[in-house]
Amino acid sequence: MEERNNKPVVNLISKPDNMLKTIYTACRTCYSADYPINIYQSTDDEEKMLKLIKRVVGSGHYSTIEHIQVSFAVSNVSRACTHQLVRHRHMSFSQKSQRYVKEKGQFDYIIPPTIDKNPELREKFINFMGQISEQYQEFVEAGIPAEDARFVMPNAAASSLVTSLNLRELIHLANLRLCTRAQYEIRCLVKGMCDALIAEEPWLKDYLVPKCEKLGFCDEDKSCGRKITKDELFEKAGL
Ligand SMILES: Cc1cc2nc3c(=O)[nH]c(=O)nc-3n(C[C@H](O)[C@H](O)[C@H](O)COP(=O)(O)OP(=O)(O)OC[C@H]3O[C@@H](n4cnc5c(N)ncnc54)[C@H](O)[C@@H]3O)c2cc1C
Repeated sequence: MEERNNKPVVNLISKPDNMLKTIYTACRTCYSADYPINIYQSTDDEEKMLKLIKRVVGSGHYSTIEHIQVSFAVSNVSRACTHQLVRHRHMSFSQKSQRYVKEKGQFDYIIPPTIDKNPELREKFINFMGQISEQYQEFVEAGIPAEDARFVMPNAAASSLVTSLNLRELIHLANLRLCTRAQYEIRCLVKGMCDALIAEEPWLKDYLVPKCEKLGFCDEDKSCGRKITKDELFEKAGL
């Protein structure tokens, strides 16, 4: 059976070097008579900085984490997944265009794991992608512009993009999309983004978590059971 990589490929391509110090300066500036530049140039240790950040961010003072912008290069994701991703309104996107980039030969596509693990359905899926590709090529060869030929392209078509967002939005994205209620592919993509950043900023592992870790309970209708549900919590508290 042909091996395919159905997983998003994610690389962190940009982040500030002084991430922790910048957030710390923003946090302390709110409560200090000192100038921000003096706070920034102080030699306060990491433990002290993390303690203050935890307190400030934990109390919902989110402007302090909006100063940090990060960028990721993403490829091998389906159009179904990117359509979910672009719903996040505080992210910036530059996505490979199906108008300007003409597909030559079989276009790349993603096979969902549920289909990929079933040999019979997998073969049908691959054959169908082949038929779509042939139809697309026929339109292009007949002089139809790529922007119109693409109307036959499926949700499975692979895409690439560069995305940038601030840390507040990344934490929000992680809270929503690391939840098991999110679809597997976007979960995998967002996990890749979080892991890439945590590899360089390990202190962020406590923030880049599904929302139940942040809340301490699950607010979804259908819970995966990882945390107590909101209703169970209220019942326990006699509310
Ligand atoms: C499991 C799951 C299932 C989903 N299913 C569906 C579905 O079936 N159909 C569907 O259409 N969508 C669906 N969505 C998408 C969802 O409705 C949101 O559009 C998406 O998750 C973006 O969330 P957001 O608005 O919180 O975040 P962002 O757009 O990233 O915004 C971040 C925050 O900014 C604030 N904000 C942004 N814009 C505004 C605004 N205009 N007004 C006020 N506050 C604003 C809000 O506080 C918001 O939480 C689903 C999402 C998830 C996680």
